[in-house]
Amino acid sequence: MCALLVKQGWQVAPLFIDYQQRARAAERRAAHRIAMRLELPPPIVIAVTGLGGKRLTLIGGHDGARGRIEAPDLATAARREFVPQRNLFLLTLACIVAYQHGSQAAAIGVIGNDGTRQHRYPDIVPSYLAAAGRLFGRSQDIRILAPLLRYAKSAVVQLGERLHLDVELTYSCNTGPRPCLTCASCVERILGLAKFYTRDIRST
Ligand SMILES: [Zn+2]
Repeated sequence: MCALLVKQGWQVAPLFIDYQQRARAAERRAAHRIAMRLELPPPIVIAVTGLGGKRLTLIGGHDGARGRIEAPDLATAARREFVPQRNLFLLTLACIVAYQHGSQAAAIGVIGNDGTRQHRYPDIVPSYLAAAGRLFGRSQDIRILAPLLRYAKSAVVQLGERLHLDVELTYSCNTGPRPCLTCASCVERILGLAKFYTRDIRST
């Protein structure tokens, strides 16, 4: 998302929010790697304590360390891993940081799907984000951006290649410091990479 925003001409200040999610260490390292690669300032870090309840810290609903890999069921995994209000909460913090920095917009990196299924989560549909934008706009002069919302995972991989950003710099797993290969994010990443590279191989 940062690479796309830079390409679009935005001056980007990356933000990393540690809300005690299981993969926070790996996500934070990835955020730093990407900021360095794009020659952006290091991510502003906000740490939120007190959200470490079971439903949040055990996001994914299983222990990735067990190494048990089952046939991926994206819909089931997505249902299991949904945290209500999380994106609204992250956007709220981003809007506060934007206000502090005099920024015109706050961006969130939610992605779409392949266009054949409905969005997996109720808070990443365009109407939800538009409603959030209207709500934030009632007390702040701010735009809410979701530049990857029209991209499926495979299209995000393709976009990264086009913007010369190695997908290996990113981190997607919801469950911990190593990809579990079974959570919704891992499954989507695997399917997205497979779809992109299959198409890529076929087109050569
Ligand atoms: Zn995972």
